[in-house]
Amino acid sequence: MKKITVATGHLQGCFGCHVAFLDLHEELIEVLDLIEILRSPINDVKEIPEVDLGILDGCIDNEENEKIAKVFREKAKKILAFGTCACLGGVPGLRNLFSREEVLKRAYLESESTVNGSIPQASELPKLLPYVKAVSQVIEVDYELSGCPPLPSSIKETIIALVEGREPELPKRNLCHECVRTHKELFIPRREFVTDSVHSIIELDRIDESLCFLEQGILCMGPATREGCGSRCVKANTPCRGCMGPTPDALEQGAKIINALATILPAGGLMFMEDVVGVGYRYSLPVSIYPCLQPIYEHPRQEEKNE
Ligand code: SF4
Ligand code: SF4
Ligand code: SF4
Repeated sequence: MKKITVATGHLQGCFGCHVAFLDLHEELIEVLDLIEILRSPINDVKEIPEVDLGILDGCIDNEENEKIAKVFREKAKKILAFGTCACLGGVPGLRNLFSREEVLKRAYLESESTVNGSIPQASELPKLLPYVKAVSQVIEVDYELSGCPPLPSSIKETIIALVEGREPELPKRNLCHECVRTHKELFIPRREFVTDSVHSIIELDRIDESLCFLEQGILCMGPATREGCGSRCVKANTPCRGCMGPTPDALEQGAKIINALATILPAGGLMFMEDVVGVGYRYSLPVSIYPCLQPIYEHPRQEEKNE
């Protein structure tokens, strides 16, 4: 099979998506038989060459991110938005709840560890954009692979599909479908409430390791999250936080979990949740279609939904 040429770029994020390549362990050798990486932050090549595939991780947070994404679009035949920050804005996107000025003030002047702080002003520093954006809100994206970070097996499958000229197949259902916990109540419409309230996992003394979190009254994002991670947190006795993003038919991950919780809680129960945005939009705030949460961009998942 002919190798395809690849350039990878890191925008704004924790770099975990690039590190996830290394989680392929010995299978990385098989992947490297399929692709030739001409540029990446790891080999520290600065120039972006012409390639078959550009892989971008991280969101668009400052002017430099925006510039790099645009050069990638010019130089790469196809672009893969890699990881949840790139696909949906990710955790850094939560800064969209505040203005740029508020964020800078909090980080450089008001943080608990700051003494005589000042906001950096050097002209070489890339300027923070007013709002965080997903990559597809700045350039046209051909493929997306979500996950914070994406699963190594999904990375391998995606690369193989692209080398073979196929569209990578993404899971379409929600996480509860692949979850190994018993969830006999969750999918059954019924009049009785499943739970009186939802809790954080640390608020309870005892957790049944085999029963659905939501059925125990523990907040889990499974109903509003795309399957495909192998329910890795849930298996480790930790509720899902939604890092794979919404299912293609949901569009709005936050609205989807609000809808799901509203069906299992007593009327008005949601009013007692302190951080609905932080729960429902932790990974997807920049692509929310609600104008009250941020400026209106063209919604990147609309196309996938219309297909
Ligand atoms: S998606 Fe997650 S792992 Fe990847 S860069 Fe963003 S925060 Fe890091
Ligand atoms: S809500 Fe969470 S624990 Fe329950 S079935 Fe869905 S993913 Fe599993
Ligand atoms: S269980 Fe949820 S938070 Fe954990 S990896 Fe899967 S989608 Fe992400």
